This record gives sequence, C-alpha cells and structure tokens, in this order.
Amino acid sequence: MQKIFLRTYHEYDLEDVKEHLLIMGDLSADCSKCRAIGIEAAGIKNCPQCGTEFRYVTSRRIEAHAGERFQIVKRMRDKYPGLVFIDFGDYQRTLGAQKARDFFG
Ligand SMILES: [Zn+2]
Repeated sequence: MQKIFLRTYHEYDLEDVKEHLLIMGDLSADCSKCRAIGIEAAGIKNCPQCGTEFRYVTSRRIEAHAGERFQIVKRMRDKYPGLVFIDFGDYQRTLGAQKARDFFG
C-alpha cells in the first residue's frame, strides 16, 4: 500500500481555527490565539502562554517553498500526529478577507 498526501477541502469554523492554531516558522512556532512567539514546539499540546489546546498546525514555509509542500506536511504529521494540517495561504487569505470585511463592513 502506498500512502500519499492529497490536498482536500473541508469546511472549518474560522474562529475555531484561529483559537487553536499552531503556526510553525523555520525554527519555532507562534500561537495564533495569543500571538505568543518563539514557542519551542516539539511535542507541544497547549500554548505555554495562554494554555489553548492546539488542534491545527500550519507552516509559513509552505507558501515560499511550494515545491516542498508535501515534505513539510509529512514532517508536521510526524511531529504532531493529532493535529490537522491547515494550508497557510488559504488561512491567511481568509483571515485577510475577514479583516477587510470587519474594517469596511
Ligand atoms: Zn497562546
């Protein structure tokens, strides 16, 4: 059996994702809820600052290194097997659209 990664689409509550998202940088991670930065993320389940439970993970690298997309996803899956991998570009665009709506709407 050959296991592969395929991108699929699923409906999520943006507020729920924002509250429980771990955003990986190159070396450390940020908490999307309280914006704590520099989190040493290996095996982490909760934010050390605000205590939120992480349910989703994303990586900033995925936008700049699209060719490495599936290696990044695999690394995240191995490191954080319980977390759902969210596409950073999708998340950023949706968040940007929501902020614009809140600002102008
Ligand atoms: Zn936090």
